[in-house]
Amino acid sequence: MNIKENVETVTDEIQKACERSGRELSEVTVIGVTKYVSIERAQEAVNAGIIHLGENRLEGLQEKYNSIGPKAKWHFIGSLQSRKVKNVIDTITMIHSLDRLSLAKEIHKRAKQKISCFVQVNVSGEESKHGLSPDEVLSFIERLSDYDNIVVEGLMTMAPHSKDEERLRATFRELRELKEEVEQKNWAHAPCHGLSMGMSNDFQIAIEEGATHVRIGSKLVGREDQ
Ligand SMILES: *Cc1c(COP(=O)(O)O)cnc(C)c1O
Repeated sequence: MNIKENVETVTDEIQKACERSGRELSEVTVIGVTKYVSIERAQEAVNAGIIHLGENRLEGLQEKYNSIGPKAKWHFIGSLQSRKVKNVIDTITMIHSLDRLSLAKEIHKRAKQKISCFVQVNVSGEESKHGLSPDEVLSFIERLSDYDNIVVEGLMTMAPHSKDEERLRATFRELRELKEEVEQKNWAHAPCHGLSMGMSNDFQIAIEEGATHVRIGSKLVGREDQ
């Protein structure tokens, strides 16, 4: 496992996906997902230039933050229980999993300043996945204007586990179209220019379809949990 090499490979693949779709590398933020790996590997990723790190559990976030600290920017990418908001809110720059008003209310209450959130959408409709159904998204985001500390940065989704490129592409495209609908509302609390989509297996397709934030774990830092 050579994380520096992985970073180079992934950056190169992102560059190529950008070229194919007429985009700039600077439009894409890489979030290194460290949930499967040790503090040491997360630190190595930071040393190799990955500034944004993603964790999906409070415990993992705290453990790594205590060691690496604010020199990385921390993203919460997993489903978040409302009672744990107070424990993560001062550490993170972005939450990628906003999917209910009760959570919005708690984030608003605990945040000391505005916080960027992605609204999670279950585009593929799989029961195992969290997130709003696409037809709930507009009314949900409209109601978020009640919570001043929440800025809707964009939409997030997880694609189905599939090797079917067209199916993946259709999922990402649907999220992009939904994002454009929200953008057109010109809501002050919801600029919604971002798309958090694409993981190790599908980030190239996600970028071709407009991803601004890719969340990459195994392909960058490997896995130590299996
Ligand atoms: C684990 C996880 C990822 C990264 O998964 P890889 O397939 O290892 O890249 C991305 N996003 C979310 C929400 C995750 O839970």
